[in-house]
Amino acid sequence: MMTMINHLNDKTKLEQKLTAACKKPLAQCSCHEIYAGLLSLVQDLAGERRSPAGKKKLYYISAEFLIGKLLSNNLINLGIYDQVREILAGSGHNLSAVEEMEPEPSLGNGGLGRLAACFLDSIATLGLNGDGVGLNYHFGLFKQLFADNKQEEEPNPWLETPSWLTKTDKTYTISYKGFTLTSRMYDIAVTGYNNRTNKLHLFDVETVDETVVEDGISFDKTDIQKNLTLFLYPDDSDRAGRVLRIYQQYFMVANAARLILEEAAAKGCNYYDLPDYAVIQINDTHPTMVIPELIRLLTCEHGLEMDDAIDVVRRTCAYTNHTILAEALETWPMDFFKEAVPQLIPIMEILDDKVRRRCEDPSVYIIGNDDRVHMAHIDIHYGFSVNGVAALHTEILKETELSHFYKLYPQKFNNKTNGITFRRWLLHSNPRLTAYIENLIGDGFKENADCLKALNDNRFLKNIKVLHGLLAVKEACKQDLAVYLKETQGIEIDTNSIFDIQVKRLHEYKRQQLNALYLIRKYQEIKAGHRPTTSITAIFGAKAAPAYTIAKDIIHLILCLQQIIDRDPEVSPYLKVVMVSNYNVTLAEKLIPACDISEQISLASKEASGTGNMKFMLNGAVTLGTDDGANVEIHELVGDENIYVFGDSSETVIQRYKDGDYCARDYYEKDGNLKNAVDFIVGEEMQEVGDLENLERLYNELLTKDWFMTFPDFEDYCRTKEQALADYENRTGWARKMLVNISQAGYFSSDRTIGEYNRDIWKLEA
Ligand SMILES: *Cc1c(COP(=O)(O)O)cnc(C)c1O
Repeated sequence: MMTMINHLNDKTKLEQKLTAACKKPLAQCSCHEIYAGLLSLVQDLAGERRSPAGKKKLYYISAEFLIGKLLSNNLINLGIYDQVREILAGSGHNLSAVEEMEPEPSLGNGGLGRLAACFLDSIATLGLNGDGVGLNYHFGLFKQLFADNKQEEEPNPWLETPSWLTKTDKTYTISYKGFTLTSRMYDIAVTGYNNRTNKLHLFDVETVDETVVEDGISFDKTDIQKNLTLFLYPDDSDRAGRVLRIYQQYFMVANAARLILEEAAAKGCNYYDLPDYAVIQINDTHPTMVIPELIRLLTCEHGLEMDDAIDVVRRTCAYTNHTILAEALETWPMDFFKEAVPQLIPIMEILDDKVRRRCEDPSVYIIGNDDRVHMAHIDIHYGFSVNGVAALHTEILKETELSHFYKLYPQKFNNKTNGITFRRWLLHSNPRLTAYIENLIGDGFKENADCLKALNDNRFLKNIKVLHGLLAVKEACKQDLAVYLKETQGIEIDTNSIFDIQVKRLHEYKRQQLNALYLIRKYQEIKAGHRPTTSITAIFGAKAAPAYTIAKDIIHLILCLQQIIDRDPEVSPYLKVVMVSNYNVTLAEKLIPACDISEQISLASKEASGTGNMKFMLNGAVTLGTDDGANVEIHELVGDENIYVFGDSSETVIQRYKDGDYCARDYYEKDGNLKNAVDFIVGEEMQEVGDLENLERLYNELLTKDWFMTFPDFEDYCRTKEQALADYENRTGWARKMLVNISQAGYFSSDRTIGEYNRDIWKLEA
């Protein structure tokens, strides 16, 4: 490992380098000039680091890398954050202001993309030879705005000069039916913490034309040469949007496959021994076509027999499953492949044929009897590893969702509980808490997250001064957030209130609607004179997929509720509802340190893991959640005393789906509080500020369907939340819960997760 640059004369040298990069005295630079200078300095330092190539290399292929801003994280990982901050302060600059100059690349939707970004950080930090491969979306995910209490979408350009992206001279010719495209590879340096530098390779086409985007985020979906890499997951509510996804996915993996074979061959691989040179992690099903494409290249261009090619690819590819939601498991009509990439069809037919010869069970076919290609089935049959992302999720895959496959290949299945990088989600996002912890237990936790366990000691847990110190840190973070929200979104919040936060993608299974129903009930209680001891600020942040109607209706509900309460002087001193706009990594970094209660309330069995839950725990928030995903593991680690768990178990939920006898209206009729809250959605107050069409649709959806079963959990949710709010009043007792949570968070370091991937799946030399 390299030693940190921490001597005085190193600081002087650093200052000289930065001044050279800025091309004028720092005191005369604008924030933007400082940002540009730092960016170029970081790129030089990252490039200088020793990164031995090694024989075997990991390729982490993912349609999403939600990397967030890179400047501060790189400074931390290079070990020069503090020096740079001091140097800038010496010339009248503030590093936080410089950070604001950087646009956030939104190359991901949520958890899955953020996981890929955390993994790249840990792969480099553990000194492993592994690069990411994905697409260079020009606008990424849309930018969210609110107007008339509704979500609006705008393009989110992030490709500015200067940029972290460097153009390489690597190009390939990628063929589609009737035309070819020339690709180009761009790279982003991925710095490890005090260690090596890896790469994130993002492929693009030069013919993409940003001017084809019309109002909002709509564009001609058929002009592939011009639109291929414009947006992440373009709206797939129509056929053209869905076919465009095939074009995108094939582009990603066709480039990846060429790169992988080329790099392996350059190291002496004869293709039969590809598994000694490369391992491919397929992040969800989006990169699945890499399997048939590699087989195609090996047979058509490199002279392997079909069976040999299949065997080689099977020993090279590993698959991560991220969801059991049926609608999220990709299946594509054969017609789409015929239209876009007919060259893959003969390969997929052979792959399917081999499965059909072996098993009679149509549920494991690749090409279903409906003439649709089941992408996950390709991964499971023709990869050597299938992993779930939390203990409960992997068990559900084995027992229910993928049970037929588990019977065929028990040895392929394994669990890798997700993790987060502590460099971003503690050192960078919460310097106050970092300093506080360092003061108590030294700085070992920065390299080895397990060291946080030292906090779980009566020396600290029974020490009033220590506990009050922790409360003071939280208080300061709440003030930081209040200032930030006021400046950036014009929102005012009371830092003496309890910050209760639910931030994540908007999805019915995540059940923001359950939280909203609670808040309606709270509003009604306050109106009836029952005021909370400490006032409550309920914060939401969530983007809804542009074509997901009910998700948008839930946003509408929350925004209307916010407005009703804001206007009501009887209620607003005690309860505030805030929906921040454009929730992204940057906002997450500000919100999470300030949180008291972390809302993780998915319907049990539906959230594969969650990683937001881990970020909150690490930052001293106490979880209010269902026994779902990684909440189960958090629960085990912190014990009943330090988490608030409610709701039906995953077994109950799975059984209820099987029986198919869930009737939302029965619960509504039985529970007066629930009925009052649900009726409020279409009541007078809501109609004054909202749109009846949206509100009625949501009301009907809940009453007649409620597919994610909010009503059965409502009562228990309300009761458990009241308990959490009551416990909050005992400040030292609460601080003890916070400290236990922080002390047990080490398990959720992505360094642990990546260590396990490498030990069990990748087997790279460190
Ligand atoms: C961590 C993160 C997520 C994932 O949150 P979950 O609560 O696990 O769904 C989504 N979006 C952003 C910006 C994140 O940082």
